[in-house]
Amino acid sequence: LHFDGVPMSEDDESYRGMLFLLQDVTDIRRLERMRSEFVANVSHELKTPIAAVKGFAETLLAGGVKDTETMRSFLQIIYDEADRLNRLIGDILELSKIESKRAPLEYAPIHLKELLDSVVEVLLPAAKKKSIVLLQEVPEHLFIEGDEDRLRQIFLNLISNAISYTLEGGRVRIAAEVLNEGGEHEAIRFTVNDTGIGIPKKDLPRIFERFYRVDKARSRGSGGTGLGLSIVKHLVDLHRGTIRVESKVGEGTSFILELPLMHPVE
Ligand code: ADP
Repeated sequence: LHFDGVPMSEDDESYRGMLFLLQDVTDIRRLERMRSEFVANVSHELKTPIAAVKGFAETLLAGGVKDTETMRSFLQIIYDEADRLNRLIGDILELSKIESKRAPLEYAPIHLKELLDSVVEVLLPAAKKKSIVLLQEVPEHLFIEGDEDRLRQIFLNLISNAISYTLEGGRVRIAAEVLNEGGEHEAIRFTVNDTGIGIPKKDLPRIFERFYRVDKARSRGSGGTGLGLSIVKHLVDLHRGTIRVESKVGEGTSFILELPLMHPVE
């Protein structure tokens, strides 16, 4: 065994220590690269709505726009972009909180149907606006152990995406079933399925990456930040669950989520 031209015997502890150190540095470099990519992405994402707000405000201030209709539409754009900026910052903070593990999960028994009802209630107006039917197939007396706020966030993100990426008159279905009932690894499988626009096959492997979107323009139009699914993936991991996606362009998408029924003991 040679290292840098120096013979190294199997039992030379100091050299072994050195090799471990090099491994560590590689990991740190990788993390640093990821962090600086993230910072670059964040700045780009923040600059876009700020540029829109500035541009439209400048035009209004210059006084050239006289017609109230146009004026109102410019103000609406300014409002929408400020709103997006707000959501973007909220999502970035949430993601950084989860990643830095500053917010450990608070496990408690949760009545599943009640939780999903409360999520559906919040999203019903958005669904109604597009005449989308929201169906729920969730057993009445099912409890799951998990962090209530985090689980709510997972379902809010998945169901609101299903509504955003489904055309008028479509349908979104939320189903839950118990796996391995009575067995050792009891789990719940949730399916959020829509009759929406679908995701091209080539995009499926990247869909959980931060800021990854199939169609940036459409996602912006629907108020998306591009962070929703990466937050979902992190929260599912924290609950020791799994999530996968199946989709066909023009037919629809299913997100299939499996979570242990009880708090997994380390
Ligand atoms: P966004 O804020 O853009 O919705 P997400 O991280 O929640 O960001 O989702 C990433 C991308 O995945 C979206 O921009 C969209 O292209 C795609 N996507 C997510 N959910 C669906 C769905 N139910 N149907 C079709 N495409 C979806």
